[in-house]
Amino acid sequence: MGLPCVFVRLTGCNLRCDWCDTQYAYDEGTEYTAEALISIIEKFNVKLVEFTGGEPLLQKNKLIPIMEHLLSKDYKILLETNGSILVKDIPEEVVKIIDIKLKGSGEGGTFLAKNLNLIRKKDEIKFVLSSIFDYNEMKDIIIKNHLEESKSILVSRVFGSEITDEQIAEKLLKDGLTVRYQIQLHKLIWGDKKGK
Ligand code: SF4
Repeated sequence: MGLPCVFVRLTGCNLRCDWCDTQYAYDEGTEYTAEALISIIEKFNVKLVEFTGGEPLLQKNKLIPIMEHLLSKDYKILLETNGSILVKDIPEEVVKIIDIKLKGSGEGGTFLAKNLNLIRKKDEIKFVLSSIFDYNEMKDIIIKNHLEESKSILVSRVFGSEITDEQIAEKLLKDGLTVRYQIQLHKLIWGDKKGK
């Protein structure tokens, strides 16, 4: 968090989270050829690129060659995905950030269990909390699947939800969960303003 990063948001999503703050990504956007997109990315002169959505793996066949090209130019690539699509065939160097949707999202249970076998140490699992119920569900999932032992875990909060940062921080400390709690820095700086 906090590093300059080119954020590429791909159109289309197979889920409909109740608190989704990027609904414009369901069908809005501009079509680019791979070459045009790469040229836009290169103009930023920043060597860190994150592909997100929507759900970027819906366009996996187009995305993989783009990621491979950027990797060959020494870019570091992050791929954020909603956990409902198998994360196989992603280039080894790409860091995957994989959501496990909780019940409070309205899309609980969409995580593909097979994905747990495809997550390496450098990848990250992400939970987004909207309530104490979500916190408790997350804790159960972490403990039941021994996630702390072998996976990096990110936790954040739905902006404006009933559970507060302070409540989450206190519960994490009390429960001794080794996770990284993140505040949505871009929301603090820019609110709901869209990127260009
Ligand atoms: S997966 Fe992401 S883009 Fe899709 S509905 Fe949920 S929050 Fe929105």
